[in-house]
This record gives sequence, structure tokens and C-alpha cells, in this order.
Amino acid sequence: MTKTQVFKFGGASIKDADSIKNLANIFRNRLRKNLIIVVSAMGKTTNSLEELLELRINEEDWYQKSAILESYHYSICEELFPEGHSVFSRIKNWFIQLKNEIERPVSKENYDEAYDRIVAFGELIATTIVMEYLCSQGLIVLWQDARELISTNADFRFAKIDWNQTEKLCRSQLLPKLDQFPVLTQGFIGADANGRTTTLGREGSDFTAAILASCLDACSVTIWKDVPGVLNADPKRFENPLLFDELDYRQAAQMTFYGASVIHPKTIKPLANKSIPLFVKSFLNPDAKGTKIHATGIQNPIPTLILKERQILVTFQVTDFSFIEEHHIHEVYRELDQLKLRVNLLQTSAISISIVIDYQVYKLEKLVEKLKGIFKVRYNEDLQLLTILNPEEELVRKFSGTYSILLEQVTRTTFQLVGKPK
Ligand code: ASP
Ligand code: MG
Repeated sequence: MTKTQVFKFGGASIKDADSIKNLANIFRNRLRKNLIIVVSAMGKTTNSLEELLELRINEEDWYQKSAILESYHYSICEELFPEGHSVFSRIKNWFIQLKNEIERPVSKENYDEAYDRIVAFGELIATTIVMEYLCSQGLIVLWQDARELISTNADFRFAKIDWNQTEKLCRSQLLPKLDQFPVLTQGFIGADANGRTTTLGREGSDFTAAILASCLDACSVTIWKDVPGVLNADPKRFENPLLFDELDYRQAAQMTFYGASVIHPKTIKPLANKSIPLFVKSFLNPDAKGTKIHATGIQNPIPTLILKERQILVTFQVTDFSFIEEHHIHEVYRELDQLKLRVNLLQTSAISISIVIDYQVYKLEKLVEKLKGIFKVRYNEDLQLLTILNPEEELVRKFSGTYSILLEQVTRTTFQLVGKPK
């Protein structure tokens, strides 16, 4: 039996009808049995779904935005399918279900659960369209609901994988199908033990690809991107980035930890544990080699730039003339853990703890509320976090000059600054 291969296509690779046609072309000579195709939501659909929920919570008009999202998907279908094709009624059906979900009562308390139920539609709709299109082109693939495969706990929006159960489900659900046809499924979504929809964190469909690969002992995972592979800087922000031909798992994981958005941070570990190579390739140039991430055992010394936006710097200052002690840090981390907030950077001084976190609806206000009894809390929003791995003096000087810096941190292998661009 040939070993399973996993392909993952993100939003940019299916953002319009031409992109979906391009995807079908990629498959023309690559489609085979034992191939799993993971597809996420089209273009910026997940952002739009988040915005719909926000409008709903604020009791503003969400109908117009939902109509725009619906017609975005419809007009793609109009370019891909003949009039009267069954895909139109299927999409309509998904949107009826979506609108019913948005109508349901939502509050600060059940926000995360409602969020997962709603954003999951992006993936469900996208995979329906892609599956129908591939089949219409004679490229037969089976559609699989990922919630029947990916079993998680009930930490909505950041669900943790139940690996044993997921492996069992993957083997029982997928193996018989993969023996006959390629299977197409959603990234990012799963279900808890009660069948409630969960999600794995924004951009989590790379992680889905890694989970499926790990559970089925796949021979490789390929993430198809709009960039040539893993670069030493985001080409949308920095000039002339360099392409890594190969990268060690460890170095790739480190880059994702600091926010390199080319791969989701949780993707590397399950693959490294099973020595499954990860390829990052361009869907615009599918025959080019891209980057191979595997156990090279070598750290590439090229400086790497990583930028994170919408960052919040929060400073907790002790109020009683004491100094910062371990228990203060525990208090802060306990609340962060409760709120499922990850610290992107930590700095302590004699009387304060400063952390940098991503912006998330309601989270900052909940954090401040919880800790304002113990600390004086101050914060700055809408900042950038710039990380330079393997920094060179000249690069550091060049970038430091372009920011009003609020905080800086230097180690032997990293330079980081938090600030506002000048
Ligand atoms: N559609 C989801 C998101 O945009 C998951 C993903 O793209 O990986 O976050
Ligand atoms: Mg997406």
C-alpha cells in the first residue's frame, strides 16, 4: 500500500475562481489514492465571519455583511459551475445554517463556543465548493467532515487534541476511503466529546494537516502557499527575502514561535516526532522545489526577520513598595492561562512585570479586571513586535531607527523590540 500524503491549501490558494482552477491544475498529475487534501476557508472569509459575530454581539446590522459574504461565494461558483448545478443549493443551505447560528443568543460567557460554531462555516463552505469543482473536472475526491476525525477537548477557539481518539477515528474513517480515492477535508475544525464544533486557533489548518499525517504515519505533508517556501522575512513587508532550501525542524519551530506566519506554530512537533518531512511550496509555481523541513541537524545562521502586529504591551506594577517575586509572576501566568492567552515576550524589572500579547476580543479587559486588585495595570495597544533571529548589528541598527521603542530584549540569538513604527 502506498503511504499517505497530505496536502494543505490555505485561504489565498482558493480566494477566487481562477485560484480554484489553478488548484485543479496542480492536481491533474498529482491526484492519487492515499492523498488527503486539507482546505481552509476562502480568502479572508474567517475574518469576515469574526466580524459578523462582533456585529451580532454589538447588536448592529450583520445582515448586509452576511449578504456580501454569501455573494462572494456565489459569484465564485457562477464562474466555476453551469447554471442549475447542485453546488448552488448546497451553498445556500450552508448559509441558511450559518444565519441560524448567528441568530442564536450570544454573550461574553458563551462567546468562544459561538465563535467556533460560526467560523467553522468558512471551511465547510470552501471544501464543498472545491470538492464539487474537482469532481466536475473529472478529479474525483471524497468529502469528509473533519469534525468526525479531529477529536478535541472543549477549550473553544483553542481546543486541544485528544490524540488517541483522533488516531482511532482517522484510521477507521479515512483508511478505507483513502484506499479508493483521495479525501478532501477541512482544516482548523474539530469536535469535542459531545459533538460540539471546536477550532484549533487561527490559521490552524496547517496543524490539522500535521495531525492527520501523524495519525496515519504519512510519508510527507505539503503546505501550498503564495510564497516560494520559507523565507528569512515576509516578502510583503521586507525587501529581497532569501529562500531556505531546507530547514531543521527545530529552527522552523523557533521561527513559528516568534510569529513567522508561513506555518502555524503547532505544526512542526507532531511531524518531527514521527520524522515526517514538511514541504512548503508555491501554488503559483508548483514544480519549484520550495523548502523541505526535516531533521537536518544544522542551524542556518542567516538573520531572520519576523513581525507581529496588533500587539498589546501590558505592565503589572506592584503597589505596596515590595519587589517582584515569583508568586507575582505565577498570579499573572495563572490568569493568562485561564484566558488562553500566550505571552509573546516577557520582561521583569524590580517592581513590574511586562508582557506582550496578541489582541483578542474581550481578553485584555478580562485580564485587567482580574489583576487590578493586586497590581497597578497599564497597557499600550496596537503595537508591533519585531524579532530578529541571528541578528546582525547593522540590521538591528537599521530597524531600531524606524520605531518608537517601548521595550527591547536581546539574547545571544535574538533581538526583539516592541513599539510603534515612526
Ligand atoms: N480559516 C482559518 C483561519 O483563517 C484557519 C486557517 O486558515 O488555517 O484562521
Ligand atoms: Mg484561513
